[in-house]
Amino acid sequence: MDINKVLVAGSGVLGSQIAFQTAFYGFKVSVYDINEEALEKAKERLTGLKANYQEDLGATQEAVDTAYDRLSLYTNLAEAVKDVDLVIEAVPEVIDIKKAFYENLSKVAPQNTIFASNSSTMIPSQLVEFTGRPEKFLHLHFANRIWVNNTAEIMKHEGTDPKVFEEVIEFAKAINMIALPIHKEQPGYILNSLLVPFLDAAQNLVANGIADPETVDKTWMAGMGVNRGPFGVLDIIGLNTPYNIALQKAKSGNEQKAKIAEYFKTELIDKGRLGIQNGKGFYDYPNPKYEDPKFLK
Ligand code: NAD
Repeated sequence: MDINKVLVAGSGVLGSQIAFQTAFYGFKVSVYDINEEALEKAKERLTGLKANYQEDLGATQEAVDTAYDRLSLYTNLAEAVKDVDLVIEAVPEVIDIKKAFYENLSKVAPQNTIFASNSSTMIPSQLVEFTGRPEKFLHLHFANRIWVNNTAEIMKHEGTDPKVFEEVIEFAKAINMIALPIHKEQPGYILNSLLVPFLDAAQNLVANGIADPETVDKTWMAGMGVNRGPFGVLDIIGLNTPYNIALQKAKSGNEQKAKIAEYFKTELIDKGRLGIQNGKGFYDYPNPKYEDPKFLK
């Protein structure tokens, strides 16, 4: 593998996690963001991640300090990308921001540098034309809390050089990710291609009065031998997200989504039940009912 130095562009929630994970596994990492204020926030996030790696992975103080020391922060893109082999882009999920970013990047990046986007909702062909290097562009998609949820979905487009695809797969493994190659473009990658219809089906059952959330979760947990059902999963995602998605689709005339939005509003959102983040969702936290062995009796 020829990837030694990495640039992470955008140092928000995911960008800072990607940067720290990459540094923790021994790579030199440049971090780029638009101004000093953003970089100050990045420093706080990156420092905060040290504790996560210590608590969740048992990392030593020395290991997290060494990882932090491998990071260099920049507001100048040309300086940040100097000698970099791979750029991982984690700028906001707004097409115009990504377009402007890639247009600027392509002017200052070394010719051989690979560009990879962490976009959750776009596919590579929506961005490729702005990169100026179709054969060296692909997506590398991480999950939130990267150090424990260590999936890396690697998705190419028709023009991605197969060697570049293989190199990024190797890189993902080198930073302790489970590398998940995706050979054709697919909105939602693999995880959301499975998860979204699954969660939709669960919401339909409840909004249509077929069964209550606990019964749906019990069915899934007992039937599949797993420790969490769809409503337990929705609590982790946070209930504003599915509510807003349903509301948007309801506004464009989808009657089933209107039922779901109404259910979320009256049963959850209006009662201040927003998911794990505020300790109340379909279940109460900590120690949600579904973790009690009696739940499946
Ligand atoms: P965020 O809002 O937390 O961070 C975005 C960062 O980009 C901010 O630090 C901002 O200052 C910076 N930024 C803004 N304009 C920029 C520019 N022109 N150049 C460089 N940096 C710029 O966003 P996030 O949640 O980290 O999401 C970033 C990307 O990661 C998105 O594409 C998103 O789809 C993807 N993603 C997010 C999650 C998640 O759970 N948050 C999970 C997987 C993938």
